[in-house]
Amino acid sequence: MFLACSGCGPPSPEKREQPGEGPVAVRVVRVVDGDTVVVAMPGGAEERLRLIGVDTPEISEPPEPFGLEAAAYSAERLEGRVVFLETDVAPRDRYGRLLGYLWLESPSGHLGEAQLRRNLFNAHLLLDGYAQLMTVPPNVKYADYFREFQREARENGRGLWGAAVDEEDFYVGNSGTRRFHRPDCPSAGQIAPQNRTRFETRTDAFELGYEPCRTCKP
Ligand SMILES: [Zn+2]
Repeated sequence: MFLACSGCGPPSPEKREQPGEGPVAVRVVRVVDGDTVVVAMPGGAEERLRLIGVDTPEISEPPEPFGLEAAAYSAERLEGRVVFLETDVAPRDRYGRLLGYLWLESPSGHLGEAQLRRNLFNAHLLLDGYAQLMTVPPNVKYADYFREFQREARENGRGLWGAAVDEEDFYVGNSGTRRFHRPDCPSAGQIAPQNRTRFETRTDAFELGYEPCRTCKP
């Protein structure tokens, strides 16, 4: 839930962060849930920050499977720690939250797969199976790596990928959005015929790079 309060709204355009600046050191004040934290910026102001590219299960009552585990995972690794915040094309979402990548050590040199695996917390959530991939353009700087990290976690049954799921008889994919749905999801009924595709299993959808709908959570 987003609570409106004075001073917490989206910043005016001239105050927006300039994308493309190097990572800045921030301190993680607290972890809200697996993919959302409160950080203290260099000037001391506290900001709510949503991690880019990942989605952890909800912790609101009743918590989704692995929601509490994901929150504990992030708290253990981030709370109280100084990390390095990197932004992407869009620095904030529509709720005014910062959107970012959190590096555990200041990144340097080539930011390729090895450094992402070792040092990027967003990647760790995927690799250890505490988050699912959630690609939201235009913030796709590391999306290709993230897709492979999720594949690795899924194929090895790590974290939430090891949990049993009640399979639907089939799933409905939208080749335009690359999302897939349960057959009774309202969004599934609105897919244009030429974009509509059918999967017999969740695995088939993930294999083709589709991401689960955030409403019906297939
Ligand atoms: Zn859906």
